Amino acid sequence: MSLDAGNLSHKQFMRYSRHLLMDDIGEAGQQKLSNARVLIVGLGGLGCPVALYLAAAGIGELGLCDPDTVELSNLQRQILYTEADCEQLKVSCAKRELSALNPNLQINSYAEKVSGQLLLNNYDIVVDCTDNLAARQLINQHCFAEKKAFVSASALGWEGQLVAFDFAHNPSLCFNCIIDKDSPEPLLNCSNSGVVGPVLGAMGSLQATTVIRLLLGFFQQHGEMQRYDGKSGRWLNLRAAAKPQCDICSTEIRE
Ligand SMILES: [Zn+2]
Repeated sequence: MSLDAGNLSHKQFMRYSRHLLMDDIGEAGQQKLSNARVLIVGLGGLGCPVALYLAAAGIGELGLCDPDTVELSNLQRQILYTEADCEQLKVSCAKRELSALNPNLQINSYAEKVSGQLLLNNYDIVVDCTDNLAARQLINQHCFAEKKAFVSASALGWEGQLVAFDFAHNPSLCFNCIIDKDSPEPLLNCSNSGVVGPVLGAMGSLQATTVIRLLLGFFQQHGEMQRYDGKSGRWLNLRAAAKPQCDICSTEIRE
């Protein structure tokens, strides 16, 4: 859906009134959100709040990628689903709920694992809500090559972290500089060690905020790691450094 600047319908005006009231969003900003195409990879504990907030914010086109079906053990944190959704595809349930929330959006669902082919679709930003390093590295590599923005988060136990890259404006420093692509998958994950639901909610909300910031041109934290410890309630920001010999982004390697 695109908005006609200065010509919002009454319903659009009411729906987005809290954005329109803000000087640094307004109709021009809402138009940018409306014209945006965002791919959400993974519709679990992170992807659910990301999708809900981006749909509510009026992101014009959302891609939803997840091959899984809803399980009872998901419901402790995956807030798009109900018990009646168990054994149904997450992308189908999510599309139904997001369309009910904001019927004007274009929502594309992909009931498959993320792949290079899928990432060739013409999205402006890819939001990594997966639970594995291999997918994260694939998205990083693709977004770097295509000069797209990439917003990644993860959580385990009480802790969450987020890092984002705006490759169109900053081609040095990528996810591979921080965690090398040859690193093994971590032994601990949410399936074997648990996670506190709202910690995922906090990180997913931060991912959605980062997407909105990128689309409105306010993003300046390329490669900065934000960590949240839900047990102590503390946040920590860490600035990563580019790896001189990075396989993905180092000019020494590419040239
Ligand atoms: Zn790199």
